[in-house]
Amino acid sequence: MTVSKFWRNIPQYYNLIGKKCPECNSYYFPPRDVCSQCGNHKLEEHKFDGRGEIVTFTIIRTPLMDPEGEVIDIHAQTIPYILAIVKLEEGPKLTAEIVDCEIDEVKIGKEVGAVFRKIVEKGPHGVIQYGYKFKLVR
Ligand SMILES: [Zn+2]
Repeated sequence: MTVSKFWRNIPQYYNLIGKKCPECNSYYFPPRDVCSQCGNHKLEEHKFDGRGEIVTFTIIRTPLMDPEGEVIDIHAQTIPYILAIVKLEEGPKLTAEIVDCEIDEVKIGKEVGAVFRKIVEKGPHGVIQYGYKFKLVR
């Protein structure tokens, strides 16, 4: 992703902004233009508060590598890390890292809340990308 595209998309990545269909109360993240439930084209912006629960998760112990063996995993510095599918209270599901907990604390069905964290920092100019991660609600 180019830097300019990244900055244009910041509200979405940074604030969990999606869409809501006022006709049938369906919610979308990432945002979309047409409701897949009722076909409505006039969806409203909706800011998710980031509360949800863990649907399933996996523990990543080996960083993703390209065929030459170079590490291309943006989470490589924090291995092992927990990658989960989180279902937001409003319904949409998304994939995100679970942070600030021990691996054995993570269970299917646990409540989580979104936090905003540095996702990746790279290059000589130190382009830092921020995005959402989730932590357990205690
Ligand atoms: Zn709808």
